[in-house]
Amino acid sequence: MAKPDTKNVYTEALEQDDLEVENQALAESLVKSENEKKVLHKTLQRIEEESALLRELFNNANNELTNLKKPALLVADVVSMIDENKAIIKLPNGNRFYCYIAKNLENLRSGDCVLVDQKSLNVIEKVDVSSHVDVEKYVIIEKPRESWKEIGGLKREIQEVKEVIELPLKKPKLFEKVGIQPPKGLLLYGPPGTGKTLLAKAVAHSTNATFIEVVGSELVQKFIGEGAKLVKDIFALARRKAPAIIFIDEIDALAATRMDTGTSGEREVNRTFMQLLAEVDGFKHLDNVKIIGATNRLDILDAAIVRPGRLDRLVEVGLPSEEGRLEILKVHTRRMNLQKIKLKELSRALEHCSGAEIRAACTEAGYFAIRANRDHVTQKDFLEAIEKVKITEEEDLEYKKLVG
Ligand code: ATP
Repeated sequence: MAKPDTKNVYTEALEQDDLEVENQALAESLVKSENEKKVLHKTLQRIEEESALLRELFNNANNELTNLKKPALLVADVVSMIDENKAIIKLPNGNRFYCYIAKNLENLRSGDCVLVDQKSLNVIEKVDVSSHVDVEKYVIIEKPRESWKEIGGLKREIQEVKEVIELPLKKPKLFEKVGIQPPKGLLLYGPPGTGKTLLAKAVAHSTNATFIEVVGSELVQKFIGEGAKLVKDIFALARRKAPAIIFIDEIDALAATRMDTGTSGEREVNRTFMQLLAEVDGFKHLDNVKIIGATNRLDILDAAIVRPGRLDRLVEVGLPSEEGRLEILKVHTRRMNLQKIKLKELSRALEHCSGAEIRAACTEAGYFAIRANRDHVTQKDFLEAIEKVKITEEEDLEYKKLVG
């Protein structure tokens, strides 16, 4: 019997071992490669995402740049259509142009708001300016809660406001029967803080009318080129919300007599004022819309606004008398916790003060009490508060003199 070749067996075993080691190494490297592949796949995915993001950023920046390079377009109104391709437009400065309309623009009508090219003035696009939304954004519309009871003194003024505004709104038939036309509105004039706005709000409250407040100076400063249109829209809004009271504060900013300097700003104010006159003339005496103008400067007012048929009832709202001051004090101390207060003495101490200053003195007196850790207000608090309000007022006057 042949003896097994021990050397061969040994070599085979060794080779077998080597193969197994090699296999194991291969398996490990396969796992490693698989892992690496996964990592690479993820990195690739991330890079692709980043690249998409960068591409989007680039596109946005590029679009922005293209937009920035585009010339601005002028906003104008179509005055009248000549035919499908031509129209007369009006720029905000009042100049009119005969111009061509871009081919893709259809259904253009007079009164539309359009964008025009700066150089050729051709109409490029129609813009939808919803005036209803705009005007409501720029004026204060409210149903005031101030009642006649909140007004101290001003008996004669209240009487006039009731006659001119309240009565025609509440009893229009009475005027028809008697056969007279009530004024369309009135003008309140007098120093600041004397209760002009308060009177207007109180009459809106008593008639349950919508109160639309506009500030004259804002109309001409904030909305350059738009003042006249805004006036038109305000009156249209008032008609929609009728019964309504349009309160124009600082009406002198619109309706001041002025030297005709011919500047574009001057023309702009004039246009706004003309529109105001046209609107006042445009509605009937017994319409459910009334206008109240307020000014501190009656002396500079254009006579056109107070002509018969317009704001022809002038009501002066001056600084309150001693009795008036007492009434105002009563109004503003109604809810205060007072102790041993002599209102008559306070009313004398408040000489030359307006209603607004009297209210400020009441608030200040309350603060003096709070600072002294009390829950009631004393005469001394009031006297100190009046002193403080008067000093602040004097400082204000000096400052105004300094800055002109
Ligand atoms: P301006 O001319 O500066 O617009 P104005 O005459 O319209 O001032 P208001 O705004 O009505 O003055 O008054 C300011 C505040 O002063 C009022 O909210 C009110 O609290 C107080 N006030 C003024 N007058 C009176 C008054 N007669 N009775 C009660 N409070 C008053």
